Amino acid sequence: MSHTSEPTAAEHGTLPVVVVGAGPVGLTAALALRSHGLPVTVLEAEPEDRVRPGSRALFVHRESLDLLGRISPGLDRTLIDNGVIWPTRRTVYRSRTVFARSYPAQPARPGVTPPFTSLRQIETERHLLAACRAAGVEFLWGAELLDLRSHPDGAELTCADGTELSARYVIGADGARSQVRRSQDITMEGERSEAFHVVVDIEEDQADPLPLERVFIYEHPELGHRSVMRVPFAGGFQLDLQCKDGDRPEDWADEEAARSWVAKVVGAKYADRLLWVSRYHFLHVVAENFTDANRRVLLVGEASHLFPPFGARGMNSGIADSVAAAEAVAQALADPGRHLAAIDAFADSRKAAARFNSEAARTALAHLRPRRRITRLRQAAGAALSPLVGSCGEWLERAPYGPRTGAPTNRAGRY
Ligand SMILES: Cc1cc2nc3c(=O)[nH]c(=O)nc-3n(C[C@H](O)[C@H](O)[C@H](O)COP(=O)(O)OP(=O)(O)OC[C@H]3O[C@@H](n4cnc5c(N)ncnc54)[C@H](O)[C@@H]3O)c2cc1C
Repeated sequence: MSHTSEPTAAEHGTLPVVVVGAGPVGLTAALALRSHGLPVTVLEAEPEDRVRPGSRALFVHRESLDLLGRISPGLDRTLIDNGVIWPTRRTVYRSRTVFARSYPAQPARPGVTPPFTSLRQIETERHLLAACRAAGVEFLWGAELLDLRSHPDGAELTCADGTELSARYVIGADGARSQVRRSQDITMEGERSEAFHVVVDIEEDQADPLPLERVFIYEHPELGHRSVMRVPFAGGFQLDLQCKDGDRPEDWADEEAARSWVAKVVGAKYADRLLWVSRYHFLHVVAENFTDANRRVLLVGEASHLFPPFGARGMNSGIADSVAAAEAVAQALADPGRHLAAIDAFADSRKAAARFNSEAARTALAHLRPRRRITRLRQAAGAALSPLVGSCGEWLERAPYGPRTGAPTNRAGRY
């Protein structure tokens, strides 16, 4: 285990708060806690020099940028400057464009946040980590949490290498297989489907790049009428292919297979520019509780919810979870008499937000993977009518991402 700053966590006695997991959500929690003036220790199972996979969460919403700028002034600008903002959204039905809208480029103005920025998750994490270091967050790398016991006054943590820590609060940001969640016997409620989609990162050809646009193609004619989306990021783009029920992974998700379908979507020259190929199953699950019985453990990010990536709800809602969790912990530490109220308010509001996101993801999936013939027919009719009725093209454009508004919110934002 390597310690990046002194004095070490072990020398602190009972720590006010420990964050488990140094993914984007745990790093955000650490920064948010520092913005409240709290010392923070992050336990991360992997080593400091780890290499994280792929683009994953590209799309950072305006709300997330605002939250990050609030807890770490300037971080929002860093992400904006290192990402891309595509000026065009386009939707194609089979071979015909049914919706296209371009926005004039907005000059960067201080105090004005663009609607989003797009960069690979590894890049976002790199900037978050740098901000954490600058803010004085203590990291324990190679520290895999094995056991966590909560009690009315705090929690005891045990790592695989024998390190033991005591904390008054623990924020569990340790991802989908969260040991924090398991240690508290908190179950996940929801569904996992055997159906999958394939995500490929591709390096752009800077000498002759594709137009900077986000394109969703319904029923691509050369892919057996599977739908595919192209999302630019700084230096490249991600293709996301919706496979059909019964598709075999080896036909679509192997690198060789991916080369073949990528060439059909964006041209042969891109077949040799693959950076990362991955396969994902559809999940929408939410933890039954976002805190433990003693209100000493708070779950955030994928430790508490998993959604399909359409709508970019995963990391964005995790950022909002973390800011809300840090606020609750800061309130509870400042005024122990408000301990239960502060932690319960966090747990209730973030669970409600996760449920909203889960439902929104379900709505998006019903559109993306229509089970009923009538849904497919409606999409075909919408495409046919789109030249005459603008709202049809607009519907086809928006529906794959699910509803955006109406989420129960708290001050941490919509997601
Ligand atoms: C293909 C794809 C596309 C996506 N696109 C988007 C998008 O556009 N926008 C969006 O918002 N989201 C998107 N997401 C979701 C996003 O990637 C996740 O929501 C995000 O990575 C979750 O972050 P996290 O910090 O909660 O978990 P993770 O990133 O999984 O981090 C958890 C951390 O905890 C550590 N850890 C685990 N167990 C332990 C332990 N026992 N002890 C100590 N440390 C531990 C892990 O090593 C890891 O560092 C996408 C996901 C996928 C798969």
